[in-house]
Amino acid sequence: MEYSEIMVRYGELSTKGKNKKDFIKQLGHNVRKALSEFDGLEVRAQHDRLHVTLNGADSTAVMDRLKGEFGIENFSPSVKVDKDIDAIKATVLALAQADFKPGMTFKINTRRQDKSFEYDTYQLNDILGSHVLENVPGIQVKMKHPDLEIRVEARMNGVYISGQTIPGAGGLPVGTGGKAVMMLSGGIDSPVASYYGMRRGVKLDMVHFYSPPYTSEQALAKAKELTAKLAKYSGGIQFIQVPFAKIQETVKESVPEGYLMTIQRRMMLRLAVAVAHMRHAKGIFNGESLGQVASQTLESMEAINDVTTMPILRPLLSMDKTEIIKVAKNIDTYDLSILPYEDCCTIFTPPAPKTRPDLEKSRKYEKHLDVEGLMKEALDGITITEIRPGDNFLNQNEDVFAELL
Ligand code: ATP
Ligand code: MG
Repeated sequence: MEYSEIMVRYGELSTKGKNKKDFIKQLGHNVRKALSEFDGLEVRAQHDRLHVTLNGADSTAVMDRLKGEFGIENFSPSVKVDKDIDAIKATVLALAQADFKPGMTFKINTRRQDKSFEYDTYQLNDILGSHVLENVPGIQVKMKHPDLEIRVEARMNGVYISGQTIPGAGGLPVGTGGKAVMMLSGGIDSPVASYYGMRRGVKLDMVHFYSPPYTSEQALAKAKELTAKLAKYSGGIQFIQVPFAKIQETVKESVPEGYLMTIQRRMMLRLAVAVAHMRHAKGIFNGESLGQVASQTLESMEAINDVTTMPILRPLLSMDKTEIIKVAKNIDTYDLSILPYEDCCTIFTPPAPKTRPDLEKSRKYEKHLDVEGLMKEALDGITITEIRPGDNFLNQNEDVFAELL
């Protein structure tokens, strides 16, 4: 079937009252950006629908992109025909024949925006339904949950016909929820947390701590490659790498082993907050899940959170690891996340970190550190990279996968 447009239905934003306009504008902007490589394509964001006129562009490739856009409830590839009953009948029949399987059920669902169109919705349902029944032997009408629902919309500029409704990514358009900093490691959890943050409309800047020479070039490349995967949902993402080795060495020299992890995390959080201030971001996202490991107990969160009043958002807080892994596989970050490159935290984590660190002790052990000086040095060493969807950083990809097998 040669489609002329993709009709996009909005998700939650249709209930957002006075913010609705901004939401629609943002979604239109995001969709235009996501589809910018397709020549001749037109995107019109109207109050009830968004229309992507294909003008010959490949509908499958366009729909693939739309699947990654937050704020879309579902969409339908549609064929536009003139307001001529014979043309409408022919297209409706072609849709029913194209998908026909023995025992198939269908229904016709019509809407009439152009009230001057000579047939009303009852007449259209009747004429089109009868036409299909007469010409497709064995097909049956079913009102509730038919196998095929053919939607027919008579609009001012023509009649739009579609036989498929494809689920969108849901959520809110990225950009409508402001901006935050995401603490992105190379693990399984933080990419999934990023996905959920973006899904609520938040534009994320990635902050990644790396520790050469203790961590490899590949560990850094892996975090960037994960960002490229996530950029699919939000357009370009700024990747901010912060050198962390000097802080880890210094902490290791002066802090008792049981508190190494807590103090390192306090430093990480302080740096993430400093980056957030620099970039006018209003919150910090991370991939913590309550009780998953030593640093993710309530006591530990209290001891680490102590360094800031900025909101810390933890989309995975109450999720089980198995659920998180499932999402990681769905969003295609899992295979990258399990590549065996050591993260900065793995290397300086003592064998037995305190699972219930004490807040006062954390503050006390930190007194020996030149917190300001260490932070300044790390922030001076920041590098920022703009990462686009599909960018590649791990060029030895194939070798590494081969080793894993
Ligand atoms: P992940 O799979 O996200 O690494 P994890 O279960 O391994 O999570 P931790 O290593 O304890 O958990 O990290 C908890 C959170 O701290 C991470 O989800 C991430 O948000 C942040 N974090 C850890 N390491 C780094 C890093 N090198 N750079 C940036 N953020 C980090
Ligand atoms: Mg980790």
